[in-house]
Amino acid sequence: MTTLLIKNAEALVSMNETCEILHSVDIYCESGIISRIGHDLDVVAEDVISGSGMYVYPGLINTHHHLYQTFTRNLPGVQNLELFDWLRALYRIWRGLTPEMVYYSALTGLGELLKYGCTTSVDHHYVFPRQAEPTLIDRQIEAAAELGMRFHPCRGSMSLGESDGGLPPDDVVQTTDEILRDSQRLIERYHDSEPGSMCQIALAPCSPFSVSADLLEQTALLAREYGVRLHTHLAETLDEERFCIEAVGMRPLAYMESLGWLGPDVWYAHGIHFSDEEINLLAQTRTGVAHCPTSNEKLCSGRALIERLLHAGVPVGLAVDGSASNDCSSMLAEIRTAYLLHRMAMGNQAPTPADILELATKGGARLIGRPDLGSIEEGKAADMFLVNADTLEWVGADFDPASAPATIGLHRPVDYTIVAGRIVVKDGRLVNIDETAVARKARELSRRLCSGR
Ligand SMILES: [Zn+2]
Repeated sequence: MTTLLIKNAEALVSMNETCEILHSVDIYCESGIISRIGHDLDVVAEDVISGSGMYVYPGLINTHHHLYQTFTRNLPGVQNLELFDWLRALYRIWRGLTPEMVYYSALTGLGELLKYGCTTSVDHHYVFPRQAEPTLIDRQIEAAAELGMRFHPCRGSMSLGESDGGLPPDDVVQTTDEILRDSQRLIERYHDSEPGSMCQIALAPCSPFSVSADLLEQTALLAREYGVRLHTHLAETLDEERFCIEAVGMRPLAYMESLGWLGPDVWYAHGIHFSDEEINLLAQTRTGVAHCPTSNEKLCSGRALIERLLHAGVPVGLAVDGSASNDCSSMLAEIRTAYLLHRMAMGNQAPTPADILELATKGGARLIGRPDLGSIEEGKAADMFLVNADTLEWVGADFDPASAPATIGLHRPVDYTIVAGRIVVKDGRLVNIDETAVARKARELSRRLCSGR
């Protein structure tokens, strides 16, 4: 049994039902679960962290990512493109992905997320080049386990190549049979639905413009047979809306509805271009949205109407999206971007700084179906991060610890990240891997991928 005690934390931002903030408390974790929170607990633990000057927050939950894109960030040739042209240019590079590249890009992206307070991440891997092994997601799961991170990989897919009117080149698409067979294999091998689970699989055809209707429909049936969740990109750009209207005569959400893609087990990345009626439909069916503000800004896709989605009762989480459309994997940076973006657009109608922290914690937990995550309470999974407020940058943070990540922001790695009661980041460095060695190898592989060698 692993035990961990955080002794006398200066402030605990619990994100519990009433969003209580506790002061001078101990947090005791046993076997991955928060077992007691209180003053001067009479317990002995294997690991003890001094909470002096420390603010403790629930671990952040990233609800959408493409880890392999970590190797293609900051590429000069695509910086000024918008989604469809950006994708066409990058598919030419991504077709060279190997299992080793997928493994190292996962170590890189997940490692960066951990260093900035994220304890659970989704990934959406949908590029399966014909020449590579189909076991790319297995390599990501290996990387997450090595880092000690909670991981929700989505088995992505593309079945509609250029010759069939889709966007991706033909040599990165797979047949419906290949996709469904591998989806089933991954669920049976890795999906653990128990509380405290470290790995859950979701099924995630890439987007309406890269897969067939048949694949979308069959994927939904398979997911429901196994009780796993469904995810895809939707309502990201007006190009996508035009594509759907021209190809199937329906707006994107109506098209997905016709294929069985609404419900509390479905969440969409982006959700920018929804009408009021569509927002109501999402709310009624409890279909969720992963909000990716930095990616939406970078690709000029538009602003998701988060204030309306939240007002209607749509489940909303926060996400960094792939590193080629964000160029970093920091949920803390995402919190600040989200706060400022909506504040500028909506003034006092915008979500508050604490609302944004809620999206990144409880909101994400709801989106991915994890009632055991998202807050620091007895009985919940022991996922959290600690920030030392005895630093120049955080002077003044005391007035409102729940708002500080959005208003002040944290522009350095956190002091500690804890996943399932285990310390995985200490003093801003990953505990379980040699960061410098991984960075060197990852840079070499990134150069190899981008030069097409
Ligand atoms: Zn994406």
